[in-house]
Amino acid sequence: MAIRIDGRELSKKVKERIKAEVEELVKSGKRAPGLAVIQIGEDPASSIYVRNKERACEQCGFVSWKKTLAEDTSQEELLALVEEFNNNPDCDGILCQLPLPEGLDENLVIETIRPDKDVDGFHPINAGKLLLGLPTLEPCTPYGIMEMLHEYGIDVAGKNAVVLGRSNIVGKPIALMLLREHATVTICHSRTKNLEQICREADILVTAMGRADMVDLKYTNPDQIIIDVSINRKDDGKVVGDVLYSEVEPKVQAITPVPGGVGPMTIAMLMQNTLNAYKRHEGISEE
Ligand code: NDP
Repeated sequence: MAIRIDGRELSKKVKERIKAEVEELVKSGKRAPGLAVIQIGEDPASSIYVRNKERACEQCGFVSWKKTLAEDTSQEELLALVEEFNNNPDCDGILCQLPLPEGLDENLVIETIRPDKDVDGFHPINAGKLLLGLPTLEPCTPYGIMEMLHEYGIDVAGKNAVVLGRSNIVGKPIALMLLREHATVTICHSRTKNLEQICREADILVTAMGRADMVDLKYTNPDQIIIDVSINRKDDGKVVGDVLYSEVEPKVQAITPVPGGVGPMTIAMLMQNTLNAYKRHEGISEE
């Protein structure tokens, strides 16, 4: 049976550590970190994510602002709200829940958020810094994956890491982070040939395709560590990852479950990024 990389447990630990640190800061007379969460429209999935983020702010002792704008909000109104938080000295992080309703320009919104408050790590300046290996606010999902690997003592140096997916929010940044820690990285996508064979040779396999149950035993080997990022809702309402868990789990070294793996870590690292941004704003060392 594989080691279960438990994102739910680890995320609790991360949030408890943050909470303790914030309590100390507040006790010493400093303000608490602040996060603004903007939602446009009432998409049910987005509402769940936003609620979870608000709850995490409470758990960590952060100040949070939740702003819900109407589905037909104009680009100008949305950008004006972002600017308001850009200029609010008590606000350390701003995130706009994606995807946006049709007609609103996602890139423009991301580029309007001040890079030092971009706790999603999506701003081109932060993406560029990650590419260059400079300190920055890193995208939460890959940041959480690296935290899981560290916590479980998985040294990636020299390992053969295969990433399934090349999105800007998961595939590309996790590939860069694995490379930074000296893995040999292969990025695969929908045009990749010999996918099964490439995956079978991986020591670490990160799957972020959004393809329910696609990764079966043909993609794995007994020594493999699998990080399943995907969240796929099946017709019967069940949430699964890309990995056919029941078949694969008994035959690999370690694996993240879905749900309870990468998902909770993403929110925990959003809190960590907000604390990191706060420390930079307040001139506190991040050591
Ligand atoms: P995207 O749809 O942006 O990217 C999917 C990637 O997978 C693309 O690069 C695509 O290739 C590749 N792909 C799709 N089908 C195949 C296939 N059959 N063979 C090989 N490659 C394939 O998704 P995201 O990166 O935004 O998200 C991926 C998954 O992770 C989703 O399920 C999402 O819900 C989940 N997610 C989970 C998070 C969490 O906190 N746990 C956070 C963010 C996302 P191509 O580029 O060629 O189209």
